[in-house]
Amino acid sequence: MKTVHMLGKEQIEVLDIPEPEPKDDLVVVKIMASGICGTEHTPYYGKSELEINRGHEAAGIVWRTDKAKLVKEGDRVSLYPTMYYFCHKCRPCLSGDWYHCEHPMAHQRFPGTHSQYELIHEDCCLPIPDDIPFDTAAIIDDCLGTPYRGIKKLGVNATDTVLITGVGPIGAAATIISKFFNARVIAVDINNLRLEHLSQYGVEHTINPLKDDVRKKVMEITKNKGVDVAIECSGMEEAQVECLDTVKPLGRVVFLGIKSESTAINVLRHFILKEITVIGSWASRPNEYPEIIEMIQLGLSARSLITHKFKIDDTSAAFKTFFSGKSVKVIINPWDQ
Ligand SMILES: [Zn+2]
Ligand SMILES: [Zn+2]
Repeated sequence: MKTVHMLGKEQIEVLDIPEPEPKDDLVVVKIMASGICGTEHTPYYGKSELEINRGHEAAGIVWRTDKAKLVKEGDRVSLYPTMYYFCHKCRPCLSGDWYHCEHPMAHQRFPGTHSQYELIHEDCCLPIPDDIPFDTAAIIDDCLGTPYRGIKKLGVNATDTVLITGVGPIGAAATIISKFFNARVIAVDINNLRLEHLSQYGVEHTINPLKDDVRKKVMEITKNKGVDVAIECSGMEEAQVECLDTVKPLGRVVFLGIKSESTAINVLRHFILKEITVIGSWASRPNEYPEIIEMIQLGLSARSLITHKFKIDDTSAAFKTFFSGKSVKVIINPWDQ
């Protein structure tokens, strides 16, 4: 089967390796669509080569099983994007919060979803209905799930004006979800192409910080009130502080972007006097994916986030396109010739 080998320094090769064998609860999934994620920046630009690849946003068909109990051959599934194997017995697991499992073990998934087949534990195979195409299913749990979880925690609704900083795949997904809940959106990005992509969703305002001062512009748009909600997706420190500065008193902020690890917070001005709620959010949980599927069935335009599709042989071009910023979501179709 074909798989992608990440060599580092922007080098990628497509290899032919033996198909994995199912074993116990590890099943073989035929990958029909695999998305490139922003977290693959390190394997792509890093100096060292990976064992194979870090593809993790994918959907496909359960192809071969051994002792699987939860899925059967032929099931259409979306793959839950995790590098851990969860105990399913501890308190967080039982509440559906797999990410905070008290006994996580290394996952044996192999070789990464930029491949024709992936070996994966059956608990990570989440069934998808027939009316959800594979490319859309591939982006449910990570690209859509990450902002959905944050937006759900903040209870974004039709009375909210929402500031979204950074409109790459996660920010664009945050945009369509906020619009789905009928909020007004102000989108911020230094990339005009990505801002233009949002015009199809009826985004009310866009700001390019290279041209305009974000704080001034937001205050002008909101008549000096500030926004109700800020969703930070860029991971840049400047944007993190802009979110805290421009959210109105009693407003809500969620941090989703992961570049900068520390930010200059003014505890008195931001938290105490404005009484804002600030949360972080990481990935999604399996119990959130049926809600996202339902939203797609009700009209959430998830598929429009996918701007480019590539054959597996053209994975090098796929990564180049993704990290050039001239795209939103890029999908690899391992079986397209
Ligand atoms: Zn991801
Ligand atoms: Zn657990």
